[in-house]
Amino acid sequence: MKWLGRRQSDNVEDRRGLSGGKAVVGGGVIGIVILLLNVFGGETGKTVGNALEQIQGGQQQTEAAAPLSKEDEEMGNFVRVVLADNEDIWSKIFSENGMTYEKPKLVLFRGSVQTACGGASSASGPFYCPGDRKVYMDLGFFEELKTKFGAKGGDFAIAYVIAHEIGHHIQTLMGTSAKMREAQEGKSEAQANKLSVALELQADFYAGVWAHYNKENLDVGDIDEALSAANAVGDDAIQSKMQGQIVPDSFTHGTSEQRMYWFKKGFSTGDIKQGTTFEEIR
Ligand SMILES: [Zn+2]
Repeated sequence: MKWLGRRQSDNVEDRRGLSGGKAVVGGGVIGIVILLLNVFGGETGKTVGNALEQIQGGQQQTEAAAPLSKEDEEMGNFVRVVLADNEDIWSKIFSENGMTYEKPKLVLFRGSVQTACGGASSASGPFYCPGDRKVYMDLGFFEELKTKFGAKGGDFAIAYVIAHEIGHHIQTLMGTSAKMREAQEGKSEAQANKLSVALELQADFYAGVWAHYNKENLDVGDIDEALSAANAVGDDAIQSKMQGQIVPDSFTHGTSEQRMYWFKKGFSTGDIKQGTTFEEIR
């Protein structure tokens, strides 16, 4: 994707340098435990424990920032451009439909993060929290997408995932997410999962709509990168990799084929009214 020299969003909160990673904090505390026990012996164990809690609490806040590499900085700037693109395109689409687009924040983190939806770690993958209307991402996820799930990778895979998470923000603004959760109440797990699939596929559709209006900035191969990422994160692909079998009733995001289909539909039509995943997938 062409992004150098283009507008960067101010709505990225870069916390990558702040957390310093869990391992560093843990290592420091363990180091102190051993030191204190050696000095004071068993009897003062309780005092040591209290002191440790304080040290641990203090340390997490004052942990020295891990400096960002040049590559990290560049990735951050790329994310800022993709977010700016989403802001421009969705502001326009919303105003054309008589609505106002509220710009969400995007938080870059490493290791673990606190959100209005609870604590999360890199292992949860990128996500959107409706409680604080922020997208959370650890860019390390994209390495895993390549190494564990066999996606092609590339910058547009990241752009697709950002646009998908923004898709959940669109659904929050439009009230679709709230309606979906209401509809899930009292349903069987399989039925509730089907509604979740419809919501996820619609977010893929919105990512496609974003790509449609960003055509002039696309490079050859970008759409393939997005489709490859969509293919890699299909429920069937993930289940067959992780547990060796596929259980369709437990799908929450849709199959690889469905995810690619809805992204492509958004990309080819650019028409938000055609994201009819709730009517078509039952
Ligand atoms: Zn999603």
